[in-house]
Amino acid sequence: MKIECDFCKTEYELKKFPKGMVKCAVCGNTWLPHKPVWQNTLLKFIASFCALIAACVFAFAVMITYKENKADKKTVYVDQTSIQSIVQNNQVSVSGYIVNMSEDLQGLPNVVIISYDAANNVLSNQSFLPPATFVEPKTTVAFSYTLSVNPVDIKRVAIELKD
Ligand SMILES: [Zn+2]
Repeated sequence: MKIECDFCKTEYELKKFPKGMVKCAVCGNTWLPHKPVWQNTLLKFIASFCALIAACVFAFAVMITYKENKADKKTVYVDQTSIQSIVQNNQVSVSGYIVNMSEDLQGLPNVVIISYDAANNVLSNQSFLPPATFVEPKTTVAFSYTLSVNPVDIKRVAIELKD
């Protein structure tokens, strides 16, 4: 077991706990060692137990937040039937509507437009700023973006919302 000089903090490794006063060989200080072993073990146990609980609470909170975010996403979406792509001046502009089906004001995420060629290869993956900051409950917001891809190559476009 270890005891420590309470004056110069020199540690001594002892086989048995001393009965009564001890004297430090380094500084000459005499003191009465107290048995700290049992208390330390208990304190360490309590500390690690608290840390474990804190970790569990944290993991739980993260999981709940993640689930709520996922649920939120369904309430704001791109109306796939509204999507139109127009070729003009050798450029493709893609337009459509973003719908908020919820009863609450929703923040709009970025709009990601992915274009594909005839062989289904991705030609471009472009992220655009949302057309507005918020969308009112039960309403739609129109968007229109111009892609920086040669329209001759594009066979299909997909639109996603990404925050
Ligand atoms: Zn000492």
